[in-house]
Amino acid sequence: LDATGESASAEEKQIDKALRPESLNDFSGQEKLVENLSIFIAAANMRGDSLDHVILHGPPGLGKTTLAYIISTEMGCELKSTSGPVLEKPGDLAGLLTNLNPGDVLFIDEIHRLNTVVEEYLYSAMEDFKIDIMIESGPSAKNIQISLHPFTLVGATTRMGLISAPMRARFGINFHLDYYDHDTLQRIVKRSAGLLQVEVDEKGSREIARRSRGTPRIANALLRRVRDFAQIKGSGKIDLAIARYALDALQVDDHGLDEMDNKILSAIIDKFQGGPVGIGSIGTAVGEEAGTIEEVYEPYLIMEGFIQRTSRGRIVMEKAYEHLGKPIPQQHSG
Ligand code: ATP
Repeated sequence: LDATGESASAEEKQIDKALRPESLNDFSGQEKLVENLSIFIAAANMRGDSLDHVILHGPPGLGKTTLAYIISTEMGCELKSTSGPVLEKPGDLAGLLTNLNPGDVLFIDEIHRLNTVVEEYLYSAMEDFKIDIMIESGPSAKNIQISLHPFTLVGATTRMGLISAPMRARFGINFHLDYYDHDTLQRIVKRSAGLLQVEVDEKGSREIARRSRGTPRIANALLRRVRDFAQIKGSGKIDLAIARYALDALQVDDHGLDEMDNKILSAIIDKFQGGPVGIGSIGTAVGEEAGTIEEVYEPYLIMEGFIQRTSRGRIVMEKAYEHLGKPIPQQHSG
């Protein structure tokens, strides 16, 4: 699995679903977000209103889809799911919107990839629960207005920087998801192990958590692979020894870093003498968009102490040299 989660197979998605927490009580971590969200949900429920529109942003695999489902469950409504690139024309959107019951959640994943025409149609739907659509074409074309039931739009994006200002302004609730710390990931691993009926001890679950790149989806994927090793090479139970053996055999990095993380660190060290260097130059060096580095990769590298942001750009820390087995330069003070 890479950080963008793009290699998740259909089978993995199925298991993702099985391990998905169904209520806010079951959802670990993101404490501030959970606390605020539960207040907004309780208040809307008390008033008998639909929940305000919600935008969830943050790196992949941190629980945006999970939260969208939880919102619909806690509001006692249904969720209909789609994604930005799938909605090609206003008619696609109209079809979905007119099928919503009062209070339902429309979940749009990758909302930064909506085309501008569809996006503009969405504005009036979000604001006034109305949508104008053009029927027929040519001289017989007519504009008709359709009233919608009140609904909650939950948008998810890894690239908040690509969401237009008018779009942002239409979300009353705006949450950022952060990478998870090791304690929280360990709790998630233990919970998933329970659901998968596999025994895991304290150190075994810790090792998986530590090497999951702060990401519940990766933690769950690693747990399943370690389980296979435990079954074939061990006693079936996951302890530290079997977790290490399996993760090494799977070539999972000791800190959970993925290929792009390592490329970024190597580039700063080899091409820019450890920095400071601007995000644009790093992007060019590794062949990735600067915005993706900033929103998806860098936050984890900063959280784990591999790089630091300074006013003059990014610099790598000693931990990065150690991790890559490169000599630490004399004058390095990080
Ligand atoms: P993407 O945007 O890439 O689709 P996402 O942010 O929507 O990712 P989810 O699909 O919601 O991520 O979560 C991935 C997996 O991680 C799910 O199987 C879910 O069970 C698990 N997960 C996510 N967050 C949590 C959490 N806070 N507690 C327990 N499990 C979680």
